[in-house]
Amino acid sequence: MSEQQREQNIKSIIRLEDRVAKCRRCAPLLKCTSRPAVGRGDLEPDTMIVFEAANDLNRNQQWIIGLHNSVRQYCGGHKVYHTFMVRCQSRVCPQSQGNDCFLTSRLLDHNDICLLNNQPCDGIAVKPTNEAIINCLTYLLEEIAALRPSRVILMGPRVTDFVLKACGVYHQTYDRPAYRAGEHLFIIAKEEHQVDSSELQHIADAVGGM
Ligand code: SF4
Repeated sequence: MSEQQREQNIKSIIRLEDRVAKCRRCAPLLKCTSRPAVGRGDLEPDTMIVFEAANDLNRNQQWIIGLHNSVRQYCGGHKVYHTFMVRCQSRVCPQSQGNDCFLTSRLLDHNDICLLNNQPCDGIAVKPTNEAIINCLTYLLEEIAALRPSRVILMGPRVTDFVLKACGVYHQTYDRPAYRAGEHLFIIAKEEHQVDSSELQHIADAVGGM
């Protein structure tokens, strides 16, 4: 990839992150999100990993580095990037219950301290709603189009379902591990907490079989 293309990628991602940071499409999620999750890794990726949303596992830097290394080892790619289908955190929040009617702004500071009680956030992370996925999916599709990875690993059935349908693939099964749409090979994988050596081999087989 040329230097010019790399600069273009960087500008596209900076513009995307700026819009994500200002996004207000999902008012209920904003209260318990200090910073929306953004993609990280090589900005000229051959492989992009897509998680459903941020969680304790994929926020762990050591675990993420290990996953990037494993993907390189099993799939032969060299440049790995990971990102999220939904950027803001879905949480059940004991503090804001009852305040829903009039509080619509962010309630966490940059250190995840809740402005309601000045304590670390004790909200319980939950799966994003379908509405949040639909609201946020455009950012992921834009990210894929900007970075143009040849392989996109879809972590879990909801990521698989929404992303493949958005790309025109309406019938998918885990038994058929990969689908080509446009210039991308989309690979169906299990959720991140189920990734082990056999799942990595499944991903490698999907890459090798296409
Ligand atoms: S989850 Fe996505 S669409 Fe919803 S407010 Fe956050 S950035 Fe915007």
